[in-house]
Amino acid sequence: MKLTILGYYGGYPDNGVGTSSYLIESGGYKLLLDCGSGALLALEKVTDPFTLDAVLLTHYHHDHAADVGVLQYYYQLHSGAKKADPLPIYGHTKDPLNFAALTFGPFTKGMGYSGDSVLDLGPLHLTFLETQHPVPAFAVRIEETTTGEVFVDTSDTRAFAALAPFAQGADLLMADTNFLADHPAPLWHLTAPQAGALATSAQVRELLLTHLPQEVSLTELKAQAQANAGQIPVILASDNRIIDGDKLFAQK
Ligand SMILES: [Zn+2]
Ligand SMILES: [Zn+2]
Repeated sequence: MKLTILGYYGGYPDNGVGTSSYLIESGGYKLLLDCGSGALLALEKVTDPFTLDAVLLTHYHHDHAADVGVLQYYYQLHSGAKKADPLPIYGHTKDPLNFAALTFGPFTKGMGYSGDSVLDLGPLHLTFLETQHPVPAFAVRIEETTTGEVFVDTSDTRAFAALAPFAQGADLLMADTNFLADHPAPLWHLTAPQAGALATSAQVRELLLTHLPQEVSLTELKAQAQANAGQIPVILASDNRIIDGDKLFAQK
């Protein structure tokens, strides 16, 4: 599994870097995980958007879905060889208006999922956990069936007990880490110490901090997470834009 971080900020883009969007590649299969502000610009730099096999949205907040509309226009207007079938865009169905917008003529098709769903997308086996966030949002656990490698994305969430069993034993846990320890309530994202503690509880191999804040020290954010993560390596999305399974999982 190869993870390319197209954008890692929470909320809004900053200094040339967009918000949540990640390209996951396994064999020749390409899954775009979230499609935030700036995602299409970043995606065009690494691959032809027509080569995507599917898109998955963890929720409909703009910092995760802002570029869906322009991706749809790309499929409508751009010349070039695209697949015969519409691009599937997976989204939860708890928000009917936003879900309906995922279908765009013959170009893209909304595909519903829920917390109980099990999806097999090419070589990727996906399961879901609804998180605790102001709008319905879903963490996703992705197992690469060809290797057994497991990647877990918390999506946006505050800390709650079910996260650790959901992320149990993951090779890479990507955690929404938007706050330092002293951030005032309400906390609709994990603090850095909470992300570190989650990695420890779930006994993951590596912790990737993303959904990063623009106005706090990322060095401090990482240090606070590492303090609770013990021996588990903690990395920042801003320092590691491409995480290749061959390197990441070499620790096994
Ligand atoms: Zn967000
Ligand atoms: Zn959100």
